[in-house]
Amino acid sequence: MTGSFWVDLLFPKVCQRCGEGFQTGLSNILCGSCFDSIPAYKDPVCDHCGISLPARAFEDASRPRCRDCGEGDYFLDKVRALGPYEGALRIAHHGFKFEGMESLKSNLAEKMVFCSIPAFWEGVEALVPVPLSAERERERGYNPATLLTAEMAKVTGILPRPILKKTKSIQPQMSLSREERLKNPRGAYQVQPGELLPLKAVLVDDVFTTGATLEECARVLKKAGVAWVGAVVIGRTPHHP
Ligand SMILES: [Zn+2]
Ligand SMILES: [Zn+2]
Repeated sequence: MTGSFWVDLLFPKVCQRCGEGFQTGLSNILCGSCFDSIPAYKDPVCDHCGISLPARAFEDASRPRCRDCGEGDYFLDKVRALGPYEGALRIAHHGFKFEGMESLKSNLAEKMVFCSIPAFWEGVEALVPVPLSAERERERGYNPATLLTAEMAKVTGILPRPILKKTKSIQPQMSLSREERLKNPRGAYQVQPGELLPLKAVLVDDVFTTGATLEECARVLKKAGVAWVGAVVIGRTPHHP
C-alpha cells in the first residue's frame, strides 16, 4: 500500500464542481466524472470564436459567425474552443494555470484536439503557442500555452513551433474596456528572426475573450508569410463583456 493511498483515505479531496469527496481524480480539485462531463461546443461553430450555435443561425450568413463576431474581416481563419469558459472547464483551467496542477495539461490538450473536426487539422504544419513576455514567463516559471502545445503535438504529430515572441508587456486585458482590449495587444508580438515559416499554422492559447491577442498574433504571422492561421483554445467566455 502506497503512502498516497493513506493520504487520500485520511484527507479525501473535495470536488469544487459537485462537492463530492473523491480519492482519485485528475487533480486535487476536480473529480473524474466532472472532468469527463465538461460540455464541448458542437458543430456548427462560429469560425472566429468557436462558440456553437443552432444550425439555422448560419443559414443566411456568408460565413458561420456568431452575433459577437459579426461579418467583419479577421486575420484568424478559424478558431476552435473546447467549450464555454465556465463550470468544470473553468475550474480545470484555473487549477492548471494558477495552482500548478500541471497534471491536467495532457487531459485538457487531448480534449482541445478532439473538439475540432479532423478537417480543421488538414495540412497544418505547426502549433504555435501564444507567448508571454520573457519577464512574465520568468515570474510564473512556465507558459501554460507552451505546455498545452507540447501535449497537443504528442496527440496530433504536428510540430510545436514557438516562432512568436512577445516584445513588449501590455496592460492586463482584464482591467480594460472592450474597446481598449481590442487595441491593447497591437505591436506586442514578433516572429522570431531566422525562422522558417509554415504555410498553415494553428495558434494555441487558453481563453478566448475578445480574441484580440489571437488576432494580433495571426496578423503578425500572416504579415510574415503564413498563409492560413487557425487557433485552438481551452474556453471561450460565453459572452463578450
Ligand atoms: Zn465532481
Ligand atoms: Zn463568434
